[in-house]
Amino acid sequence: MSQLTDEELEKYREAGKITVEVMRKAKKMVSKGRKLLIICEALEKEIIRLGAKPAFPVNISINQIAAHYTSPIDDELKIPERAIVKIDLGAHIDGYISDHAKTFLVGGTKTYQKLKKTAELALQNAVDFIKPGVRPSDIGEVIENTIRNEDLVPITDLTGHVIERWKLHTGTSIPNYKPKLDIFGSKLKQGQVLAIEPFVTTKEGTEKIYDESYSFIFSQIGKKAKSEDGKILLKEIEQYNKLPFALRWLEGLFPQTRLFETLKELISFKTLNRYPMLVSKSQTPIAQAEHTIIITKNGNEVITKL
Ligand code: MN
Ligand code: MN
Repeated sequence: MSQLTDEELEKYREAGKITVEVMRKAKKMVSKGRKLLIICEALEKEIIRLGAKPAFPVNISINQIAAHYTSPIDDELKIPERAIVKIDLGAHIDGYISDHAKTFLVGGTKTYQKLKKTAELALQNAVDFIKPGVRPSDIGEVIENTIRNEDLVPITDLTGHVIERWKLHTGTSIPNYKPKLDIFGSKLKQGQVLAIEPFVTTKEGTEKIYDESYSFIFSQIGKKAKSEDGKILLKEIEQYNKLPFALRWLEGLFPQTRLFETLKELISFKTLNRYPMLVSKSQTPIAQAEHTIIITKNGNEVITKL
């Protein structure tokens, strides 16, 4: 992909504008005692009301959870009294995706405040740096330096990513550190769409995360289904066109036990991919900030900013 047409550019910009507006609503909703399920549903509904579709389920990841938590069916969890809350949301128009995340503090401590500010600063420094010809690993260096300068730790297990139409992750990653070997590929070009997303933890923490054993987010990666239920489920999820979807969005399709059995079947056939919840290995709090940008002739345009 080299150049975007004006029409494509407009769709990206519109998707970006919508994520910003929905994030404003998120800011108002994140408060002590609020149910996560209510927030997820309200924000996803707002994306649709504004004329887009969710590019993935709204993620609400709290404290040591880095990413990939979205409310399951009947979730009773609430925002705790003291929390560092990452809201990560995406909208797409006709497959043109924007991906945007912010950290909100509830009864926040100075530590949380510093984590949040540093994630934002690392993102800003990366955005200021990106233009045609920079390499993913150069961006990673800018992010890592910013974070280490504040005596904090970048989560190196999580990365930004290149976006294409209907593809949230194309396979090209944007690291949050300077790799010893440049394994992240060659120079970036005008017209490429990037999600930049530094994750930061405290100096006592590690760069590593681990996968929880359960997932509330899935995506379609294959076409095989054997049972009748499997075929029904497959037909149901085809509407997402391989973008991630929530377990919650399948509520009512089958009784829950049957739904879990069917998901298991499709996972075993590699028809479904799971997105396990991602947690800090050191159980330390994490902040995140994310923008989607388009590389322009001399720099970049942030589409998730007004
Ligand atoms: Mn995101
Ligand atoms: Mn992302």
